[in-house]
Amino acid sequence: MPRFDLRRLILLLAMSAVLLTVCNGFYSGYQVQREILIRNTLEAHRVYAAKVAYNAETFLRATQQNLRVNAVRFADHIGDQAALQRELDLLARSSDTFNGAAVVNAQGVVLAAHSLPGLIGKRLESAGARRALAEKRPLISEPYLGAATQLIVAISQPLFGKDGRYLGYVAGSIRLREKNILYSLLGEHHYRDGSYLYVVDGKGRLIFHHDPSRIMQDVSPNPVVSAAIHGQSGARPVTNTQGQPMLAGYAFVPSARWGVVSQRPKARVLAELDQLMLTMAQYAAPLLLLIVLVVWWLSLQIARPLRQLAREAATMDSHGATPRIEAVRSWYFEAQQLKQALLVGMRAMQQQLSRFRQESNTDPLTGLGNRRELDSVLEDWKFSRQSFAVLMIDIDFFKAVNDSYGHGTGDRVLVTLARLMRHTARDADVLCRMGGEEFVMLLPGADARGAQRLAERLRAQVEAYRDAGLPTVTVSIGVVAGIADAAPQTLLHQADGALYRAKQQGRNRVVVAA
Ligand code: GH3
Ligand code: MG
Ligand code: MG
Repeated sequence: MPRFDLRRLILLLAMSAVLLTVCNGFYSGYQVQREILIRNTLEAHRVYAAKVAYNAETFLRATQQNLRVNAVRFADHIGDQAALQRELDLLARSSDTFNGAAVVNAQGVVLAAHSLPGLIGKRLESAGARRALAEKRPLISEPYLGAATQLIVAISQPLFGKDGRYLGYVAGSIRLREKNILYSLLGEHHYRDGSYLYVVDGKGRLIFHHDPSRIMQDVSPNPVVSAAIHGQSGARPVTNTQGQPMLAGYAFVPSARWGVVSQRPKARVLAELDQLMLTMAQYAAPLLLLIVLVVWWLSLQIARPLRQLAREAATMDSHGATPRIEAVRSWYFEAQQLKQALLVGMRAMQQQLSRFRQESNTDPLTGLGNRRELDSVLEDWKFSRQSFAVLMIDIDFFKAVNDSYGHGTGDRVLVTLARLMRHTARDADVLCRMGGEEFVMLLPGADARGAQRLAERLRAQVEAYRDAGLPTVTVSIGVVAGIADAAPQTLLHQADGALYRAKQQGRNRVVVAA
């Protein structure tokens, strides 16, 4: 017994097709969405990093420009300490740019200071201060830890006298972790998706980062950091120094040689993608369910006619199989073909069967019914309580016919008698050859008188029959009429008795049973 039926096979086939399609859809959807998300994220961070770097650059340049413009006045007042202090206070207060400011002479001694208490008259020894004196040009210092471990950047502008003599420099300090314009540019960001931005100095050390503990940490091994501080800008996926995969945009701040990196953890992007796929699945689910139901229903519809045809074909020989097969709704081509083939086959089979039945119930010589036919008719009539009359017919002295003319002629006499019987009988009458030269006619519905009349007519026809090649014969006939009761053979028996009397009374006559 195979384990699959057609319905299961169709279901299996359709379901696997649906499943594969869905999986494929989800997979390709996932891939496409992933690519788009990553590309968009990279682009957004590239743009943001570039914008922040550009704003920082603009700010630093404007600040340098401001110092340059003011430098002339500081140079003018270099000998006037009070005037220097006044100018410096004015400069420092005019904007939120600087946290502190100082004017330093050519020997590195502080002449005036704003918000840098205790510095006046002191000589500055920091690397930045020494560099400013040595290089005598506008500078943006490397970020350094100042007093109170404040991370500071100093922007300085050299002062030259009218004769071109170097007089020292004016410098503004910006605390990187305090409220000022630079901090609001580089330290404050309003991401809400796990993204963040950090800034590194020219050596790849963190100077702006949301995690204060990481300030001044060296992240130069990070490829995007190294690209940014080497003047490049762009975006790429990268694994940061903490080992986290990131989608990073980066840009360069030329005047300070800083690098700006804006990035989002890749895991956050992918989590968003998972959410997206989940939403997609939620949208797809009802339709999928519908498809499953439709497939299930269709598989039932496809399998049903085949199933029904198979069942009916198994009981093909039972009564009413043909109308049951005809009633099967074969709504598609193959089922219709199968149904037609079954019906044609059954029709042929039934024709064959009925031919066999007819042959087996027919006497081959005369074409009349034989003993079996007689029995089956009597059986039917017994069942339907059909009244009928019986004519039992026997040829007189037939042995002599055979002896004188040969068996072949005897046979032709039998055939001729059969023809005369047919000629005499009505359509409904049943004509049989019981064997030898004995014949029976069953006349349904006939009474004794009617039967007798018909017997007499037959007898007379036989007697009067002439054929050049055949001897003239006569017949004796026993007649009885009645109803086929529990034993229809009784009527035959009675007819037989009447026939016997006819023979006894001299033959060529009709005798009706009493
Ligand atoms: P009766 O009936 O008048 O008493 O005389 P009968 O000679 O006809 O006697 P019976 O009915 O006993 O004879 C039957 C004969 O019919 C015997 C046989 O030779 C012949 N016969 C039986 N069957 C056939 C047959 O199929 N063909 C031929 N040609 N003869 C047959
Ligand atoms: Mg006989
Ligand atoms: Mg006879």
